[in-house]
Amino acid sequence: MEYCQIILKPKKEESLLRFHPWVFSGAIQKITGKSAEGDLVEVYGSNGRFLGIGHYQIGSIAVRILSFTQRPVDADFWKERLQMAYSLRQTLELAGVENNNTYRLVHGEGDHLPGLIIDVYASTAVMQAHSVGMHHARTRIAEAVLAVMGEHVKNIYYKSEGTLPYKAGLENEDGYLAGGEVEDIALENGLRFYVDWQKGQKTGFFVDQRDNRSLLEKYSAGRSVLNMFCYTGGFSFYAMRGGAKLVHSVDSSSKAIHITRRNVELNFPEDARHEAYAEDAFKYLERMGENYDLIILDPPAFAKHKNVLRNALQGYRKLNAIAFEKIRPGGIIFTFSCSQVVSKENFRLAVFSAAAQSGRRVRILHQLTQPADHPVNIYHPEGEYLKGLVLYVE
Ligand code: SAH
Repeated sequence: MEYCQIILKPKKEESLLRFHPWVFSGAIQKITGKSAEGDLVEVYGSNGRFLGIGHYQIGSIAVRILSFTQRPVDADFWKERLQMAYSLRQTLELAGVENNNTYRLVHGEGDHLPGLIIDVYASTAVMQAHSVGMHHARTRIAEAVLAVMGEHVKNIYYKSEGTLPYKAGLENEDGYLAGGEVEDIALENGLRFYVDWQKGQKTGFFVDQRDNRSLLEKYSAGRSVLNMFCYTGGFSFYAMRGGAKLVHSVDSSSKAIHITRRNVELNFPEDARHEAYAEDAFKYLERMGENYDLIILDPPAFAKHKNVLRNALQGYRKLNAIAFEKIRPGGIIFTFSCSQVVSKENFRLAVFSAAAQSGRRVRILHQLTQPADHPVNIYHPEGEYLKGLVLYVE
């Protein structure tokens, strides 16, 4: 097959030689042939050396590299990549085990598949394309998922309305590429929950907090827990299993609160320790008392772009400051940022300012990040996005 060729400007090949999978539009000298958005293109250095093959897109990231060696991107390619991803999840004991059937199968660049996310919930895989190329390849990818996963995955839901570049005008509609509607109960570390991949946020659940929820469970015994920004209650049911005295879950979305109640009920029927509130975080934090001794703060990404970074850091500072002011002595705070543009250092600085403002003595017990099924390609440090601190407040 003939591909368009993209020739880079002199010296612009270095990052590709180091396996960084993006070609920025500014690095391009010329394009031979006519490449449409989403097409496969070959990238060459100014000296004519082959550098990689990937998906072309109009925008600042012009090419997302799929392979650094010259090879066809065909059914075998997708199967190979999917097999590699699945094997890793088996090695991590997340797939094919009794107490867990919820995990990220494909984490974009971290699985050498830039632009593609796949989360698995029991027998359903939810697939999300972030590039036009992955959108065009969706049927072939779905076939590879079914081939590799065998009986483990029966349904594939494609959910890319909110993630594909708007300007590409693809008019994509979300829907099933294989199988259909089921009400599966997902399982994470032995805890059960409903996932609404059709109407829920992201792919339906925040798989990336699994390890951090497990850690929280260990600190929960006898504590009064506030799970702020609870979404569908992930941290709450772990806290309950950990023996919390009470758990209050708060989220501004009443739909999320409805699912939180169902999920807690599913694991701990008629357990009076849990209450859920659909309310704005700041309003709740202002009006609440000083009775909590374990607080989780897991807000949505405050900064989606670099130019709003300052405001985001102010947001983190303000949020954490109220928690520091109100938590009981001997209390523990699990605080997170999932903004990719907020660095670990910046986040820590924001939390430091909040601590200083409150005048409390604070120690860092753990520094948290994303779990192993969200691997970071070492040549693509941008893939690291989740940051968390566990703090002991004297
Ligand atoms: N901790 C969750 C994920 C949190 S996602 C888990 O483990 O699954 C962030 C959540 O913050 C979303 O559910 C969103 O509805 C909620 N949210 C956004 N703005 C909010 C606000 N101002 N007050 C309360 N909740 C808010």
